[in-house]
Amino acid sequence: MILSAEGVLLRDCDSTNGTFLEGRPVKQAMLRPGQTVRLGDVTVLVESVDARVVIPKTERPLPAPPVVLPDGTILCRRHPQSKATHRCTHCHELLCDACIHRLRRKGGRTLKLCGLCSHACEPLVETRRRKKSLFSRLSETIKLPFLKKNKD
Ligand SMILES: [Zn+2]
Ligand SMILES: [Zn+2]
Repeated sequence: MILSAEGVLLRDCDSTNGTFLEGRPVKQAMLRPGQTVRLGDVTVLVESVDARVVIPKTERPLPAPPVVLPDGTILCRRHPQSKATHRCTHCHELLCDACIHRLRRKGGRTLKLCGLCSHACEPLVETRRRKKSLFSRLSETIKLPFLKKNKD
């Protein structure tokens, strides 16, 4: 791709997989915002004419509200692989074990503090505890390809 004053000039340099603009094979074209370009296996969305192209990222989860699985498990926002087990009494943030700051007091019990505001947090009460539904088993099956690394 060539950047010019007019915008982004797309030029196919005899690539093996071809270059496609809006699904049509092209040799050379000026890009406009909102158009999608496919370069081999990669699809690129043209975001704006000031030469900014973004490759849509599908793998990395964006900072989003806590994910609640079908079985009622809430996932930590900062650690999507971990289950949120506590909630801060102050900022009401959901916290997983890695988010909790543990403060050991002499002879006493361990204080669990919010990793964000250092206030006390309390265990989440699991209100919905039931046998694994087909739904949650289904989501476990779907998750597998992401957790396992291909050893080929
Ligand atoms: Zn807090
Ligand atoms: Zn966490």
